[in-house]
Amino acid sequence: MRGAELVDRLAAVEQRIEAACCAAGRPRNEVTLIVVTKFFPACDVRLLAAAGVRDVAESRHQEAVDKRAHCRDLDLTWHFVGGLQSNKAAAVGGWADVVHSVDRGKLLAPLARAAQERSRPLDVLVQVNLDATGPGSPSSADSPHGAVPAGARSGVLPQDALILARRAAATDGLRLRGVMAVAPHGGDAPAAFRALADVAAEVGAAVPGATWVSAGMSGDLEAAIGHGATHVRVGTAVLGNRPPRG
Ligand SMILES: *Cc1c(COP(=O)(O)O)cnc(C)c1O
Repeated sequence: MRGAELVDRLAAVEQRIEAACCAAGRPRNEVTLIVVTKFFPACDVRLLAAAGVRDVAESRHQEAVDKRAHCRDLDLTWHFVGGLQSNKAAAVGGWADVVHSVDRGKLLAPLARAAQERSRPLDVLVQVNLDATGPGSPSSADSPHGAVPAGARSGVLPQDALILARRAAATDGLRLRGVMAVAPHGGDAPAAFRALADVAAEVGAAVPGATWVSAGMSGDLEAAIGHGATHVRVGTAVLGNRPPRG
C-alpha cells in the first residue's frame, strides 16, 4: 500500500534528521522537513498530509496549481523551489506560501505585486549558487533526466547574495526569510554548505528575521543539518524515484 510505504519512508527520513540534529548538537525543532512532491500525484500529497507532513514543495507552476486544487481542504504550506522565469513570477506568487528561488532583482516586482493582490506578505529566500565552492563541479550534460534538481545551477553568486537580500527585504509585500541552495551535483556538499552558512550569517546580520537556511536533499541532508540548515527539501527518500514528467 502506497500509504504504508510513505509512512515507512517518512519515519526513516525522520530518523536521519533526528540523528543529524543530535550529531550537530541542535534541537530537532530547529529543522523543518519539506517534502518535495514534484512529479508525484495529488493523492500522494494527501497521503503525506495524513501522515503528518505539513510542508510540501513543487518546482513547476502549472503542476503545483493543479495539485493544490486537489488539496485545497488540507492545511499545508506550499513551497516553490523551481527555477523562476520572470513571466511566471507573479503567477507563482499568487499561490506559493514561500518562494525559495529568488535569484535576481527582476523577480522582486512581480512577486511583490502578487503578494499585494492576495493581501498577505510572501515569504522569500535568496537562492545562492554554490557551484564554485567545491572541487570539480562536473557538467550535468550526462545526467539522466530528472537527476539534477530543477534549481541546480541557479542562484546568485555568494558575493552578490547580500545585495539581493537587502533589495528583497526592502520590497513591500515580500518578507525575506533567508537563503537557499542546492549543493553542486557531484561536488563537495559539506564545503558548499559551509559556504552557504557564511552567506546566511551575513544576510541574517543585515536583515532581522532572515534566519532560514534551506539546504539539504535526500542525499546530503546530514551535511546540510551539520552546517546549520533550518529547512531540508527531501523528495526521493520519501516518495521514491520520480516518475517521468507527464
Ligand atoms: C527535486 C528537488 C529537491 C529534492 O531532491 P531529492 O534528491 O529527490 O530529495 C530538493 N530541492 C530542489 C530545489 C529540487 O528541485
